This record gives sequence, structure tokens and C-alpha cells, in this order.
Amino acid sequence: MVAICSNASENAAMKFQHTHYNVIVIGGGPAGSATGTFLARRGYRVLILEALRHPRHHIGESMLPAGMPVLAELGLDMTVMLQHHQPKYGARFFDPQSQRLETFAFGLPSDPIPPAFNVRREEFDTQLKYTAMSSGCEFMEDAPVAQAEADREPIRVTLADGSCITADFLVDASGAAAKLARQQGSVEMLPDFGRLAIYTYFSGLPAAHPHERAYLTMHLIEHGWIWLIPLPGDITSVGVVLKKTGLRSGLNPEQQFAAAIEESSTLAQRLKPLEALQPYRACAGYSYRCQPLTCRYGLTIGDAGGFLDPIFSSGVFLALIGAQRGAQAVAESLSGNSPEPLRQHRQYMADGLRVFESFVRRFYQRELVRNLFFSRHQPPAMRSAVTAILAGRVWDQTNPLVAAVGRSDGNTTPGIPAATPTTVST
Ligand SMILES: Cc1cc2nc3c(=O)[nH]c(=O)nc-3n(C[C@H](O)[C@H](O)[C@H](O)COP(=O)(O)OP(=O)(O)OC[C@H]3O[C@@H](n4cnc5c(N)ncnc54)[C@H](O)[C@@H]3O)c2cc1C
Repeated sequence: MVAICSNASENAAMKFQHTHYNVIVIGGGPAGSATGTFLARRGYRVLILEALRHPRHHIGESMLPAGMPVLAELGLDMTVMLQHHQPKYGARFFDPQSQRLETFAFGLPSDPIPPAFNVRREEFDTQLKYTAMSSGCEFMEDAPVAQAEADREPIRVTLADGSCITADFLVDASGAAAKLARQQGSVEMLPDFGRLAIYTYFSGLPAAHPHERAYLTMHLIEHGWIWLIPLPGDITSVGVVLKKTGLRSGLNPEQQFAAAIEESSTLAQRLKPLEALQPYRACAGYSYRCQPLTCRYGLTIGDAGGFLDPIFSSGVFLALIGAQRGAQAVAESLSGNSPEPLRQHRQYMADGLRVFESFVRRFYQRELVRNLFFSRHQPPAMRSAVTAILAGRVWDQTNPLVAAVGRSDGNTTPGIPAATPTTVST
């Protein structure tokens, strides 16, 4: 077995606890830490390489109920989550034009066990890092990966400082950096979805509706939407997401944010007396799909394989499910020396993404979203079907909305298959 890359310096070799790993994971966000944890617990020698140092800021604060069992399996059980994070009982959609508020509840605010949480990512991702370390992963921070080769055995990773290390398998969990897909030249932007998100944090936002802090609330505006995500300590994350048509030239992020908030007049009034707690942060160009990886010994987990749009809070959920199932697929692939478990895993993830994508497309077609979320005559069964998808139950073929989207063919992978807009009438 190759001990360490031939061009590695003595110093580089000294950095690592081992000269060769079973699995190297690029990225120590939720996808990387969770995948590393599941693999290390199976007895694999895992090295996680993270470009930054925890705790680091990250967006992606609202979780889905269907991801909670994965957190429990990782060891972030209810006690840990209740101590550190904000209980979330459902999602609400508010139409400022009609002043209608629709609640899709995953549980009741009086339930002692919340169905999901909103998290401060600084804290959440650090908890996952320590989970990975205590499960046996070697977690190296300030370790940006410059180059990765996963089509050869052993796979080889070169860090920005020139040091180089080998393993049997490579997991790319580098988030939007999408290391392997970009190297392969297979990242394709999705121009139809949200183009620009601007967000910050406020303390003491007065409630406009009963139990407001129990829910994630989305305000619909003409060229996008606004999120209100309650966080621990009476903090609210407030973000605006604008489509291309909503971008105004000559405005800085704070001015773009203020202009969008003005479209929801009651929210604008509530925010007026409050000072933003942090600088306004902007992210652009975050919706992309990646073509299937062509390398034999590599797998993408989480955003490294594509990201749609933040509207349904699917990102961390898909990272966690991808980690849980992807770790099993990697283990089966290594022990059976076969790529088939990897192919099956990619297909599973692609099927889930397809359902989210179909919903995201509807969301950006305003008439459809009014039918889906604001219909006065929605049959209870349809409402349950919508709520189940909002909770992350996107593989449940007994849900008519899931079944109508259909399965992907076996050739699709974590990249997002071609969209079939609006296959269900609601
Ligand atoms: C505006 C916006 C709002 C969002 N809101 C939500 C939400 O409410 N709920 C939700 O679930 N999701 C949300 N998301 C999505 C969410 O942020 C991501 O889906 C989630 O963070 C994916 O986790 P990950 O582990 O795949 O990637 P990340 O969390 O991005 O982690 C990747 C890690 O890899 C590291 N890395 C990158 N390149 C390298 C390299 N070369 N070498 C080593 N390390 C590297 C990075 O430093 C990072 O720590 C939102 C996204 C956007 C853009």
C-alpha cells in the first residue's frame, strides 16, 4: 500500500497521524463530519480536511423533521438539541398582499418534544466536528485541499501547502466549493431560482402572530421571498432572497435588503426600530447542479453534489441523509470492491432532490404557489401531502405529490435531473 505521496515533504508526513487512510473527507461541515462519523464508527480510518477553523459562520439554520433521526444516531439527541437550539414546529407562508398566513404544522408548540430545530451553525457544526473526533476521525482544520484525484487507487489529495496524502476512497463534502465536480468541469448554474440572498440578525423582533417563534416564516414578495428564522436567545435570522428580476443596480446589500423588506409593510414596521446585530451578508449564485462524478473511488455528499435553493430548508437535511446512507454505500463499495452501492446511493439521493426541485419550481411560479400553499379549498389529504414534503419526507411513494414526480433513471447522480415542472395539479 502506498504510504504517502512521493512528493510529500518530511514535514507534511509529520502532520498526519497515519501515512495512509481508508477514507479522506474534504470538508468539515455537516456532510463531512457526519459521513466521517458514520465511517469511523464502522472501523475505518478517516481523515477530515477542513479549509477553515470551527466555530465558523455558515448560513443554513433551519432543519427538517426527517433529519432528526440522523442527528439522534450521531449522538445529538433531544437533550443536546433542546439545550442548544431553537425548537421548530412547522413552516408558515405569509402573503403580504392578502395578509394571509398559512401554517403547515409538524407538531403543536405545546408539544414537549419538538419535531425539528433551528440552529446557530457556528455551534451546530462545531458539535458535529467533536462528534466526528470522538468517533475516531482525525479532523484537521486550516487544511484547504488544492487538488484531489479519485479515479486512481489509492486516491490522492494535495493540500494547499503542497503536502499530499493517500487513501482508499475520497468523499467530497466541500459544500459549494464542489471540489471534485469543479475539477471535472461539471457544475451547471440554475438561473431560474433565487439569485441573491442577503441576511442578518435582529434581537427582540416583536411577534406579529401567536407562537411566531415556534415557526419558520416565509413572506412572499414580488421578486422573491423573505425568511424569518427564530434562533435561541430571542435572535431572529432575517434574509431576503431575490430572483434576477428583483436585483436593483446601484444598491449595496443593506439597501437591497431594505427595499425588499419594504414589500412586506408590517415586517418593515417591526424591523424599523431594530439594529442589525451583524453586518449584512450576501450570497449569490448558490443554485447549481453537478453532473455525475466519473471517478471510481469518489463520492459527493451534501452541497458538493449540487444545491437547489434555500426555500424548503432542504440543504442540511440532504447533507445528513446523504452522510448516513452514503457512509453505508462507501463501506459496501470498499468491502465488495464494487461501484454498484455508490450508484444506488446516487440514484436514491437524485430521487429525493427531484421532489424538492419540483416544489422549488412551483414556488417560483407564483400562481402555483398560491394554489399549493394558499388555496382556501385544499382537501385535508393534499395539505398533509404538502406538509410531509415540507418535513422532508420526499421518498414516500404513498404521498401523491411524491409519486407524481416520478423516479429518476439509474444514470442520474447527486446532480439534479432535468426538471419536470408542475406535474401535479393542486
Ligand atoms: C441563502 C441560503 C440559505 C440557506 N438556508 C438553509 C436552511 O435554512 N436550512 C438548510 O438546511 N439549508 C440551508 N441552506 C443550505 C445549507 O447552507 C447547505 O445545504 C449546508 O450547509 C450543506 O452542508 P455541507 O456540509 O454539504 O456543506 P458546508 O456546510 O458548506 O460545508 C462544507 C465545508 O467544506 C469546507 N471546504 C470547502 N472547500 C474546501 C477545500 N478545498 N478543502 C477543505 N475544506 C473545504 C468549507 O470550509 C466548509 O466548512 C441555505 C443556503 C443558502 C445559500
